Amino acid sequence: MPRYTGLIDKYRDRLPVHDDTPIISLSEGNTPLIRLANIPRQLKKSVDIYVKYEGLNPTGSFKDRGMTMAVTKAVEAGSKAIICASTGNTSASAAAYAARAGISAFVLIPEGKIAQGKLAQAMMHGSIIIQIQGNFDAGMQLVKEIADHAPVTIVNSINPFRLQGQKTAAFEIIEALGRAPDFHCLPVGNAGNISAHWIGYSESAATCPEKVTEACAFCNGHCRFATGITVKRPRMVGYQASGAAPFLRGHMVDHPETIATAIRIGHPQSYHQAWAAVRESNGWFDEFSDDDILLAQKLLAEKEGIFCEPASAISIAGAVRDIQNGKIPEGSTIVCTLTGHGLKDPDTAIKQSTAPLLKVKAELNEVKAAILDNMVK
Ligand SMILES: *Cc1c(COP(=O)(O)O)cnc(C)c1O
Repeated sequence: MPRYTGLIDKYRDRLPVHDDTPIISLSEGNTPLIRLANIPRQLKKSVDIYVKYEGLNPTGSFKDRGMTMAVTKAVEAGSKAIICASTGNTSASAAAYAARAGISAFVLIPEGKIAQGKLAQAMMHGSIIIQIQGNFDAGMQLVKEIADHAPVTIVNSINPFRLQGQKTAAFEIIEALGRAPDFHCLPVGNAGNISAHWIGYSESAATCPEKVTEACAFCNGHCRFATGITVKRPRMVGYQASGAAPFLRGHMVDHPETIATAIRIGHPQSYHQAWAAVRESNGWFDEFSDDDILLAQKLLAEKEGIFCEPASAISIAGAVRDIQNGKIPEGSTIVCTLTGHGLKDPDTAIKQSTAPLLKVKAELNEVKAAILDNMVK
């Protein structure tokens, strides 16, 4: 097998690139689909829950899938600078891909409302950070206006190449499972990712563009078109934080609040696309409190050994609740997207942790006592 060199190279035939497009890549994508072992057992339900661990992308979130496309196309068009508004992960990704491309990145972030790890990334990769005294939605509005006044390419998800890159997560899931899942659960903020997945699943459900009659390299041997069977699309389920839940309220929210800063968005840019995905797939939206989000983050970390950021954990909170209440029936295959890595936001993790931090003298007896006193498992 050739060395994996990123999702544009892998899915070149299904992405808007040409043979001579200069690809800007950090080998993003190809993230693991991990089958949960302990949470389903604890639920006492026969379900297959998989997590798509997008935190293992190069900058630690799924944003890299869209950014490789957006920056590649910006460079192809001759752009020397990119700009985005961000709750953190988009700026981290934009900064890294701009560094790789040798162009400038300007990032607008809400003052004081960005997780430490994400800020560190934007700083380290040499982007120009503009902290605004306002939230993500205000930043987004400014970015849309500034593009008419300065020679910069917007790399927020209103840039259509972002969703094109992000749709590849659906391709990878179909390849890994040999089919689409029955349910796909994911956090919803600006609503680009749920829309992108729906594009990916829908393209996979269409007829094979290669018109082949047997398994081919294009579909990695998992092709269903060859047998004439249409790939079924999953039901899309989007979860929002209660304090930032325009899809549940049925209208935009002016002062979004949640500890899950990555989804602290009240005016989602892909509002209509996301609604279309949920309606067409016969899915639904639901909401969770910050406490429920943090409990799910901890559950996943403690029971499965997987550390995701708070926003990502809402997909676990949602899947667990909807399995328990029967909305997701037994026998289902479920994929939850873990959008970002837990290390992005160490402060929130440490603050909510109840792990014992024992202080002892540097002496064998004291260490031994600490161990024997705490042998619970
Ligand atoms: C961007 C982001 C989201 C929200 O994705 P949208 O496409 O804006 O709905 C969720 N979780 C994390 C970690 C993110 O970085």
